[in-house]
Amino acid sequence: MDHFELKNGVLHAEDVPLTAIAEAVGTPVYVYSRATLTRHARVFRDALAKLPRIHIAFAVKSNPNLAVLKLLAQEGYGADVVSEGEMNRALAAGIAAGDIVFSGVGKTRGELASAVRAGIGQFNLESEEEGVELAEIAAAQGRRATCALRVNPNVDARTHAKISTGKSENKFGVPYDRAAAIYARLAALPGLEMRGLAVHIGSQIGDLEPSREAFVKMGELMRELRGQGLAVTHMDLGGGLGVPYKAGEQLPTPDDYGALVAEVAKDWDATLMFEPGRVITGNSGVLVTEVVRVKQGAVHPWVVVDAAMNDLARPAMYDAWHDFAAVRPSGERMVANIVGPICESSDTFAMAREIDAVKPGDLAVFRTAGAYGATMANTYNSRALVPEVMVDGSRWAVVAERIDPATILAAERVPDFLERP
Ligand SMILES: *Cc1c(COP(=O)(O)O)cnc(C)c1O
Repeated sequence: MDHFELKNGVLHAEDVPLTAIAEAVGTPVYVYSRATLTRHARVFRDALAKLPRIHIAFAVKSNPNLAVLKLLAQEGYGADVVSEGEMNRALAAGIAAGDIVFSGVGKTRGELASAVRAGIGQFNLESEEEGVELAEIAAAQGRRATCALRVNPNVDARTHAKISTGKSENKFGVPYDRAAAIYARLAALPGLEMRGLAVHIGSQIGDLEPSREAFVKMGELMRELRGQGLAVTHMDLGGGLGVPYKAGEQLPTPDDYGALVAEVAKDWDATLMFEPGRVITGNSGVLVTEVVRVKQGAVHPWVVVDAAMNDLARPAMYDAWHDFAAVRPSGERMVANIVGPICESSDTFAMAREIDAVKPGDLAVFRTAGAYGATMANTYNSRALVPEVMVDGSRWAVVAERIDPATILAAERVPDFLERP
């Protein structure tokens, strides 16, 4: 459920007509609904409320906007970060260092040292090599780094190949059959406190069976480690729960997910950790765009909008579907291809799609754009970096300014050797 609805024939974010935001800020622009973010954060937390000890770390990479992080901090969420930049955002939003999990396969020495200094709550180690390096860095600072070992369970999450992370051919985690030996070796290092296991098999998961399979395997590994006298007090089950991108699409709910975890983990006696991203932010945002032109096509007309693959990369990267809707629908429909202005054929949002009829100058939205939207934006074709707005009832504010091409140009230099030939 979200708070983007038609009122008096105009699509609103909560109580604000999207026309008002587009007029004031221009397009394209991302618009987030505070009420939707809050609702999703609570629904997810409530779905896990029956579990005895939980820690929820919002996957910052899905939407790292400072205002979004602040809201989630106020909801009691920690953060799952994958770079020093994300760590600093989470800290800036007021998330306690101890509630931050540092994930990622390529944490640099510099990032590890900064994170140890900051007192990060848990490092999810992706390799034995990383653990050895972190142990050294922590010991040099006279500290012990608290860690979980990320295991690759070799389970197919049955999602898009580019967002699948739990198969042995993916770069993430240590192989399942070597995990116990690696855990034991790392637990013996003085700079580390090994306290748990971590798993994350992929994103936009629409079938919970692979998650069940992965969690069961992790439970078996936990028992094996405990049987060897090793402490395993924390089990990080990652993120990945999918969201409906098409109206009417049925996906497992947070309650289904909570029930699955409760069943698999019933005798684990561990603190359960979660790293949800998309399920919190996905349906909390739309990308507002203006139709530039409607061009005749060989089969269907081309609706050329002023948003492009640099603003919303998911269709180009993952063949992802985003529902498209007019801000002031006339009730008429058309079948069209929807594309952006960028000089790439992959700058395509939809082909042969039945949509609200639109004409040049009309406003429209791509729905479910709150996750992996603005954060993946870039300036390809010397376009502006897309701005972000948050709505709260009848109030709204720009939460990330548009960075225009002139600002980016101003950071570039012509070297002396070209100025004076
Ligand atoms: C991306 C990622 C997440 C979040 O995934 P969602 O599908 O957005 O829930 C969680 N944990 C890790 C380690 C990730 O890489």
